[in-house]
Amino acid sequence: MEKIKVDEEKCIGCGACLAIDSEHFDINDNGLSHVINNENLNSSALQSAIESCPTGAISKGECCDCCDDCTSDETCNCGCEDCECGK
Ligand code: SF4
Repeated sequence: MEKIKVDEEKCIGCGACLAIDSEHFDINDNGLSHVINNENLNSSALQSAIESCPTGAISKGECCDCCDDCTSDETCNCGCEDCECGK
């Protein structure tokens, strides 16, 4: 399944992604971005949000959705035995 992932270790809570693409992002109680919707993943707003994130915290890609540390792309290094990212 393709999904959006926000790396909370990288997110600084600037709100740029939400300002650009409120369809996919919101700010959680910790002041960090989180994904609210994994539909319409080819939208130009989503692509712009990914490119505009100052810390590169947002990624999009195929994912096995194995754990909370999964980054959803070929750079995934979550270490899960079942992780299918990058395979
Ligand atoms: S643009 Fe990046 S750093 Fe800013 S809130 Fe969104 S994910 Fe976090």
